[in-house]
Amino acid sequence: MKFDDYSINPAIKKALDKLDFKKPTDIQFKAIPPILKGEDVLAIAQTGTGKTAAFAIPVLHKLHERKQYAREDGIKCLVMVPTRELAIQITEVFQTLGKHTRVKTFSVFGGVEQGPQIAKLEDGIDILVATPGRMFDLVSQGYIRLERVEILILDEADHMLDLGFIKDIRDLMKFLPRKRQTLFFSATINEYIKDLAYSLVSKPIRIQV
Ligand code: AMP
Repeated sequence: MKFDDYSINPAIKKALDKLDFKKPTDIQFKAIPPILKGEDVLAIAQTGTGKTAAFAIPVLHKLHERKQYAREDGIKCLVMVPTRELAIQITEVFQTLGKHTRVKTFSVFGGVEQGPQIAKLEDGIDILVATPGRMFDLVSQGYIRLERVEILILDEADHMLDLGFIKDIRDLMKFLPRKRQTLFFSATINEYIKDLAYSLVSKPIRIQV
């Protein structure tokens, strides 16, 4: 199976070509079709497997196809991550793969001033990559509105639990629409992670690589 065999928008295929990504990795092969179909996904995958592109490719495809027809305001996809480094890294992947689309990705994280982040949010963005603490601060001050979110992604969920972000995550869920697609990625799985996962996803496709 090659990326050419997928019904992914040419704008994204062009970016894949440029990166010289020809064939999907195992996680991409398993995750892209259900994500395109709108299913919830619970994936156990380590860093280095190509997990970022496994969610970035189908999410960009969906948002780009829609954006060609209608311009709707508000964040459509929220990606929650444990660290600033991961937020920056994932944002770069979305921006690189989405280079030829009109989909806008931006990240917010703690440890830096809020001001510039708030200004950028006001420009209008489609995909927000965020660490839970800063995210919660900006949502509670009304700078981020989540009622248009259609896709929620949790990446490195096990790491988020280790860092004690569970309360922030649960508090943030109250601001998200119940009807949404949820993609839950973790490198490891145990009872705590399963509990969190199953409180967020509904009838997920389970993937392990
Ligand atoms: P990740 O697991 O998301 O951190 O990705 C690990 C590395 O694999 C990154 O350097 C990606 O650029 C690379 N990568 C992801 N998907 C592919 C692919 N389909 N073909 C070749 N390299 C890839």
